[in-house]
Amino acid sequence: MVKGKVVVITGASSGIGAELADMLAREGAMLVLAARRKSKLDDIVRRVETYGGTAVAVPCDVTDRNAAEALIHGTIQRFGRIDILVNNAGRGHLAEIEETTDEILEHMFAVNVYSLWYTTRPALVSMKKQGSGHIINVASMAGKIGFPYNSAYVAAKHACVGFTHALRLELIETGIHASVVCPGSVMTEWASSTEGGAMLPLFKESGPRILRIAKERGMDLPPIEGVISTDAVAKKIFECIQNPVAEVFTHKGAHEFVVLSARRREDAELFQVPVVLGEREAYEKIKATHKPPHLQTDQ
Ligand code: NDP
Repeated sequence: MVKGKVVVITGASSGIGAELADMLAREGAMLVLAARRKSKLDDIVRRVETYGGTAVAVPCDVTDRNAAEALIHGTIQRFGRIDILVNNAGRGHLAEIEETTDEILEHMFAVNVYSLWYTTRPALVSMKKQGSGHIINVASMAGKIGFPYNSAYVAAKHACVGFTHALRLELIETGIHASVVCPGSVMTEWASSTEGGAMLPLFKESGPRILRIAKERGMDLPPIEGVISTDAVAKKIFECIQNPVAEVFTHKGAHEFVVLSARRREDAELFQVPVVLGEREAYEKIKATHKPPHLQTDQ
């Protein structure tokens, strides 16, 4: 299905993007890999070449419109076409709403939302001439339901889902597909490399608290699978390339939870109460013992 196809993946230097790159290269796709850390991309290109695959590394900050457009134009110049665009680059941010500054908002929307237009606009021009193509946007469960202390990211990923729905309608009967992927927790750098303050301490600190609170109150936790591997997510994206669908849920129980939430938000929120209270305790502890989370960075 992907042999000889030209595939652009943003955010390919680590995590889901890097895993997908490996998987598609092994199937014979020709890859254009974009992210800011060129050395990481070069490592992937070298690995792909050891098994005879084709990949090029393009250092690119997707929040820079000119750079993102050049990524797509460069691909078309080099390969003559673009078959699949995976808009995967993304970042989160740890901050409660009062602490979410305009700079955080701007950055979260630049990387998770505006970049979608920067790459998709020029890609569509080429795909429409071809009469074929597939645009895959990696959103999150945070694009479907709320999570605390990451409001800018949650709003941005909801925008990513909305963008994909609008895109799908504009693409009806054009031969071009669009899909949105909504992972839950995945074992990647994401939680430890959020731009303005790592989410990882929050997850680590809140885990036992969430369990304690759920037990004390006799409440159920959200019936969604826990942390999964990048391999499992890449396989789901690969399946979507083979058989395009509107929305991809990578975690067991995720789709059902989204349906419950859409039917009556309050019912879904009940499951989230112990999670939120556990994270609230953890967030207060992190704030008391460290400098404000929104000023922390481990990059
Ligand atoms: P990683 O942190 O491992 O990967 C994020 C990728 O995005 C990296 O390759 C990073 O590369 C790239 N990136 C970040 N900012 C920019 C930028 N400005 N320009 C270009 N590239 C950028 O995490 P994941 O693999 O988990 O993240 C992939 C996607 O999955 C993201 O959109 C994320 O929001 C989403 N997601 C992740 C979940 C998780 O639990 N891990 C859950 C749900 C969704 P570099 O730093 O080199 O630029």
